[in-house]
Amino acid sequence: MKKVILTGDRPTGRLHIGHYAGSLKQRVTMQNSAEFDEIYIMIADAQALTDNADNPQKIRDNIINVALDYLSIGLDPEKSTIFIQSMVPQLTELTFYYMNLVTVARLSRNPTVKAEIQQRKFESSIPVGFFTYPISQAADITAFGASHVPVGEDQRPMLEQCREIVAKFNSIYGDTLIMPQIVLEQNRKAQRLPGTDGKAKMSKSIGNCIYLSDTKEEVYRKVMSMYTDPDHIKISDPGKVEGNTVFTYLDVFSKPEHFSMFLPEYDNLDSLKDHYRRGGLGDVKIKKFLAAVLEEELAPIRRRRAYYENNLPLVMEILKTGCKKAEKKAGQTLEKVRKAMKINYFDDNSLL
Ligand code: ATP
Ligand code: MG
Repeated sequence: MKKVILTGDRPTGRLHIGHYAGSLKQRVTMQNSAEFDEIYIMIADAQALTDNADNPQKIRDNIINVALDYLSIGLDPEKSTIFIQSMVPQLTELTFYYMNLVTVARLSRNPTVKAEIQQRKFESSIPVGFFTYPISQAADITAFGASHVPVGEDQRPMLEQCREIVAKFNSIYGDTLIMPQIVLEQNRKAQRLPGTDGKAKMSKSIGNCIYLSDTKEEVYRKVMSMYTDPDHIKISDPGKVEGNTVFTYLDVFSKPEHFSMFLPEYDNLDSLKDHYRRGGLGDVKIKKFLAAVLEEELAPIRRRRAYYENNLPLVMEILKTGCKKAEKKAGQTLEKVRKAMKINYFDDNSLL
């Protein structure tokens, strides 16, 4: 069986280090592993409009931001097809057919959608499009015949929903769709990185983010204002490491070599944590270390970004080419789906 990747992001803002840790970094590794036959990376503008219908300019502006983020982390358009969801109308048609295979009760149980409805304060005025976005996500995944979907942990319910749709479709209409599997980042703490406020997950819609495109100064300022342990007031106080966002970020981003580079007095993260727990280690010191660690990761990304920012027509060309390729592939799947559903009336003369 072919190994195919589909994943993507909503163009609701620039991408942040939560995306990077939970999904983007893994995509680049998978891309460069040469283990996959096809890779599709989608800028999910149609999905972003489901809860931003009144703000089309925001979505429009962020198409290019997300494309720049992709190219700057090392996604290579020669290996990965980068495209825009709404430019592939086959996805909308598939969504419409899949809607018949899902109940309202099933959608209402989706824990991620439930949490997002609360977070967006929709209460009883939930847009139908937003409520049904897991179905459109199933269309995105199956249209490209994706076998692997590398995403953050919040996407697990979407993948479950998609797998149910695939099973139901294939059982009613015959074996047509490929069953996808979720690929989660190994490091559990990276699967759902908290925001700098230490509360919810880092999310563009909440504004608790360190962006991949932030300047060195912005990253430093955000790290310095981060939440740590509220009971660690004096340097001599013993501190908590669990639930301390600075340490969560260090768990995700620090590497053994960072200690010899920036904090040679500690052997590794465990000895830093031990000192913090004992007391005598101040927040400023660990924050400065975190800022340096993040800078190691972000500086090369920023450099690549500057190149593409100075070559925006090239970025547009990459997107246009990607959209064409994606449309072709989704068209092939749609043809199979129509045939399986017996709505391919003019393919032969069997109606006569
Ligand atoms: P929005 O608030 O508009 O939904 P978002 O920040 O949640 O934006 P998405 O575009 O919905 O970002 O998600 C893109 C991908 O990044 C998904 O695979 C998602 O699981 C992953 N992701 C998002 N936030 C995090 C996070 N804080 N930690 C790890 N992965 C994340
Ligand atoms: Mg999201």
